[in-house]
Amino acid sequence: MIESLLIANRGEIARRIIRTARRLGVRTIAVHSDADKDMPFVREADEAVAIGPAPARESYLVQEKILAAAKATGAAAIHPGYGFLSENAAFAEAVQTAGLVWVGAPPASIRAMGLKDAAKKLMQAAGVPVTPGYMGEDQSPERLQKEADAIGYPVLIKAVAGGGGKGMRKVDAAQQFQDSLESCKREAASSFGDDRVLIEKYILSPRHIEVQVFGDTQGDVVHLFERDCSLQRRHQKVIEEAPAPGMDAATREAICAAAVKAAKAVDYVGAGTIEFIADASEGLRPDRIWFMEMNTRLQVEHPVTEAITGQDLVEWQLRVASGEPLPLRQQDLRIDGWAMEARLYAENPVTGFLPSTGPLTHLRLPSAIRVDSGVEQGGEVTPFYDPMIAKLIVHAPTRQAAAKSLAAACGEVQVWPVRTNAAFLARTANDPAFVA
Ligand code: ADP
Repeated sequence: MIESLLIANRGEIARRIIRTARRLGVRTIAVHSDADKDMPFVREADEAVAIGPAPARESYLVQEKILAAAKATGAAAIHPGYGFLSENAAFAEAVQTAGLVWVGAPPASIRAMGLKDAAKKLMQAAGVPVTPGYMGEDQSPERLQKEADAIGYPVLIKAVAGGGGKGMRKVDAAQQFQDSLESCKREAASSFGDDRVLIEKYILSPRHIEVQVFGDTQGDVVHLFERDCSLQRRHQKVIEEAPAPGMDAATREAICAAAVKAAKAVDYVGAGTIEFIADASEGLRPDRIWFMEMNTRLQVEHPVTEAITGQDLVEWQLRVASGEPLPLRQQDLRIDGWAMEARLYAENPVTGFLPSTGPLTHLRLPSAIRVDSGVEQGGEVTPFYDPMIAKLIVHAPTRQAAAKSLAAACGEVQVWPVRTNAAFLARTANDPAFVA
């Protein structure tokens, strides 16, 4: 096992990683911006190194500063968490070149899955079903329109470099296509510096179902079943759960096998997620599930998988990065009960979900369930980073019981004066349509 670990991240995920590292006897090193110097993750790490001003561009995203911190503290490995540098292949390479262990995906896998069009082509070649559509080189507006017409409306225009729900436009009719294309390309150029797009059939009654996969350096890959993240706002996940409602054995076998095949096609090592979209207009069916993209990192919603499998995925990551084989074989993994996670955000639903930053004068989070949080009472939600306050994770014998427990947990949240989406989450978890 690696002896020391620098965490190139902040907030709840930094704390989450520290917790497992400590249990395994791994020395932890936090890096932090000036804005984060009083955050719990800085205090909880064995050591902490300041790496610059509040804006991530000047701190958490500066590769040289993180590598220098690792060198100065004698860190043996770097865990990137999610976001920031976690899917940056050049950084992964720089870490390895510096003689450190990268607790993340192999740089070549990150690159192969980095662009949506290239990833889809690769998956198609590997025999993984992909969402029908156009992912060609010819980016002329005429050609794109012709392809969209041929696919049939509604279609979805997607930036090949997109992420976080950005750079997507649903087009309902041919006359709207050119306007949507222009605005999508504009957003893609400014957000990702790449205005190329692909076109997909817009799936009606869509379900977002993703499969957690894990590979080791011996070439073995297993899956840890699926998560359902269909409950979204603006293409961003709000509530995630595992397993997926309405999943029968045949469909589960098909989707999980496709995920393992996808991971093997890019020689995957470590924690990854294969995202699929399902047409659920007639329930889930094995022939109506298509590959969307792969996330080559640990995901925000990994706790629901941990809950139903009883595994610690950060421990798996550290073991695999240390060269150990996967802790369990496929036949030893089982689903136990139902788990749900809600993302508690410092945002105000009444103002259209505008971020609500400021001091956390009063903060009380549920105590009877798993809560992964990066902040504490007396702290602050700053405008510099993602305004997530906590993830609330429940685990119960049935889906109904999990939804009930999640609604109750959201109802217990007390935060002042920062506004949150807690009441919105509670209503959502209680909503008859969601429960059904
Ligand atoms: P990002 O990388 O920005 O998160 P994704 O490709 O993962 O984008 O898609 C985000 C969400 O958009 C999906 O979870 C789903 O809700 C919706 N979506 C994506 N592709 C389609 C599609 N072809 N049809 C309908 N909805 C889609």
